[in-house]
Order: sequence, then structure tokens, then C-alpha cells
Amino acid sequence: MRTRVRFAPSPTGPLHIGGVRTALFNYLYARKERGSFILRVEDTDQNRYVDGSEDYIQEALEWCGMHPDEGPKNGGEYGPYRQSERKEIYDEYIKLLIEKGGAYYAFDSNDALSDARETAEKNGESFKYGAKNRMFFKNSLTIGKDEVELALKEEYVVRLKVEAGETVNIYDEIRGIVQVNTNELDDKILMKSDGMPTYHFANVVDDHLMEISCVIRGEEWLPSLPLHKLIYDAFGWDTPKFMHLPLILKPTGKGKLSKRDGDKGGFPVFPLNWGEDTPGFREKGFLAEGMINYLALLGWNDGTENEFFSLKDLETKFSVTGIQKGGARFDYEKARWVNHHKIIEMNTEELTTQSQIAKLMEDYPIEKHKPLVNLVKARMYTLKDLEEEIAFIEKTYPYDEKVLNKLKDKNPIVILNKIKKTIEKETPNLKESLMNWAKEESIPMGALMQSFRIALVGQLRGPDLFEICNVLGKEVSLIRIENLIQHINLKLT
Ligand code: GLU
Repeated sequence: MRTRVRFAPSPTGPLHIGGVRTALFNYLYARKERGSFILRVEDTDQNRYVDGSEDYIQEALEWCGMHPDEGPKNGGEYGPYRQSERKEIYDEYIKLLIEKGGAYYAFDSNDALSDARETAEKNGESFKYGAKNRMFFKNSLTIGKDEVELALKEEYVVRLKVEAGETVNIYDEIRGIVQVNTNELDDKILMKSDGMPTYHFANVVDDHLMEISCVIRGEEWLPSLPLHKLIYDAFGWDTPKFMHLPLILKPTGKGKLSKRDGDKGGFPVFPLNWGEDTPGFREKGFLAEGMINYLALLGWNDGTENEFFSLKDLETKFSVTGIQKGGARFDYEKARWVNHHKIIEMNTEELTTQSQIAKLMEDYPIEKHKPLVNLVKARMYTLKDLEEEIAFIEKTYPYDEKVLNKLKDKNPIVILNKIKKTIEKETPNLKESLMNWAKEESIPMGALMQSFRIALVGQLRGPDLFEICNVLGKEVSLIRIENLIQHINLKLT
């Protein structure tokens, strides 16, 4: 059987990173098995439809480098790939299911259902429309043919006919056997009164017609699995394989990672921005590779301690046995750390062309772009860090007076003058020459380096001092040293 997997988001807003992780595992599984990765937009619930979300999903997948083999944008042999465009297909299949006796029309009014719910609650039971009571309602199993014909002219729904007292067994590749007794299930609605299919029905019909070989989705869909199995059985169809991925948990405490957690903790939970106020990982300065690498670690490992993977590596290393059952805790600091690694790993040329970097570099002459990025890239956790890291290139940060106070008794003026002279003479190895001098004169190395750093940067931070000096150039370095000499002199007088 050919491997065909699908990512099936609902366009109800921006794609949560849990969704991106689901897309990623689908994509990796498809690539590993040399199969197809399909994007199917599940937009049958018009009430929850949010404009712009389908484009957002497509853009997010493309940003990550996960281009669907088939989908609404690029088509394919199994389309349409938007459920709202498949209405006739669902109509045809619901009729087929009714003919087979696996489903039936139900005509109950809202009032009748509310009454029944109330009575059940009064008796301390939760209401279920199903094998035990369906004969007491108005549906095509309880009324005559003619009456059905008439009732079909009004509003109706179609329900799955779930037989009582049967055991449903279904296998999940990650979790093993899932078993449920049908007495726990109800006759779920498959077609709604607006003529649209419910998620469950459309999902099963499409997975079958699109020849999906393995359904990979979030754990939140596990409770629906027995119901889906019953729909497959009612049609007499084989089921695909199933994999329910572990939840992505809040950074602390119980429950799924939510947008609110992100707002509270100041981290993104979406890949791309959604409007002005909601930045995504991209706007926070993540490389797509950084985010993808981190997401791959949320619930999967390759059996070693290795935590750094490119998308290409993942395409070969990914395996179902590496997926864990338990929830995976979201850790933004770790995400930043992985991104930091990706930044360091990326060659400077490529890094410099990243749009956020290119934008920050606009104010600098072109020949400075690469040297500047190179200078600070090892200090960057996100692309945005560049701005702060190179701020001292324009002018020093305010002098750290605490450090200057400590240096006071260590001959800073002598030190600075020596550095100045050595730079002026264009001594070939500045570092070595200054260090030798300090040794000979018994000047503490700390005092030398700190004075030099405060002169060039203003504070005890930043990349390698001699590289800074190089990038600033002789002239600017000398001015900065002189400025600090004057500043200290002024303080002493
Ligand atoms: N449309 C569902 C969602 O938004 C898809 C679930 C599935 O993959 O079956 O998550």
C-alpha cells in the first residue's frame, strides 16, 4: 500500500504550534516512507470559519519547508481538498450509508431533545441518543415511509446507528489497543441540519476516498477513534493506521499549551504573526529550521542524546518508535537554545540574507554586513538579538561606572595609553603584544582587558575584543580609547 498521509486543519484561526508539530510528523512520515503528504482543509463548520486562516496555514507550511504534495493550492488527483467543496460527495456517501442500514434520518425538534435531556438529568443520567432509546424518538426507524418523505422536506439530521453491547477494538500505533463498548457511545450526528457533514463523517469519508494509509493527529482526537472505526465498519471499509501524537503541555502545571500561556509568558504559540498584536516564532526571530527542530523534540527522539536535526536529517531519522505516549512539556528557553544552535550553524552569508537581518543591516555599509553578523552571531538566540548585540557599533553603551570604579586603582590611563600606542603603530599581533607588555609590567590581565572592553563597548559584554577592534577599525577604536581616557580624567579632577 502506498503511504499517503494528510494534515487536516480546520481554518478557525492561526495554526497553533501543536498543529505545526502534527503537520511536521505527517510530513516526516511521508518523506521517510517515500509517500505523499496531503493538505486537506476541514472547513465544514461555517460558524467557526475565520477568514485568512487557510492562507495562513499554507504560508506557515511553506515557511517551514513542508510543501504539501497535494492540497487546495497545488491540487492533485484526489481533490477537491477543501471539504466545503465536497458536499456532493458527502451527500452521496450518506445516502449509501443509510441504504446499508448504518445510519438513519432523525427529525426530532430541539424541544423534544431538550425535554429528553432534562428528564435524563432529573434521573441522574447523562442523555444519550442511541440504541436504548432511539425507538422513542422521531426518526426513519420509527415512522413510516410516507411520513419520512414528508419529514425530509423539513429540517433533519442523519445519525449513525450504533449497535448496543458490542466491543470496538482499534489499534493505535503509539498507544496500542483502544477498546470501547458501544453502550458508551451515542448515535452521533453525521449530517447536520444545515446539510453539512460533521467532522467525524467528512473526515472518515475523505480519509477513505483520498486513500490515506495512516492518520496522524493530536491525542485530543483519540476519544473519537472508536466512533470513526464504527463508521468505517458501517461502510465495510478497511481502516487506515492511526497514530495519536502526545499533547504539547503548558510550561508549568497541567493542561494543553494555550495562547493564554504564550501571552502570559511572553512567548509565541503560532509559527507566524496573526495580525499586528500576535507575533509568531518567525517575528520573534526564529529560523524556520530552529522552530522545526524544536518541535520535532516535542514528543520524539531518535534514540540517542542528539537534539539537533535539520529537516533533511529528520526526513531520514524519523520513526514511529521514537514517539512518546506522554505529553511533551513546552519550554521556550529550550526553543531559543535550539534556535541559537541553528544560527551558529548557518553560514554567515546565508544568515545575512535573512530578511530580519537584512533589514537591521540597512543602516550599515554593505561591506560591513557580513563582518558584523559574523562578529555577534555566536551570541544570538534569535535573529532579533542582532540589533541589541551590535548596538555598540554605532556608539558605546553607557560606561559601566561600577567597573570603572574598580579599575581606578589599576592604572587605567597607563593601560589605555599603551593600547592606543600599540594600535597606532599597527603592531601585527595586537593581542599578543599587549599581553606580553602586561606581563612585563605586572599589569593584571583582567585590568587590561576590562579597560579595553569598556573603551570599545562601554560595558563588560560583547564578543571577542580583538575582533571588535578589527570591525570598528583603527580610527574608531582610537577615538573610543581617547574618549574613555578623557572620561576617567574628568572624574579624577
Ligand atoms: N480538522 C481536525 C482539526 O482541526 C482534524 C483532525 C484529524 O486530523 O482528524 O484538528
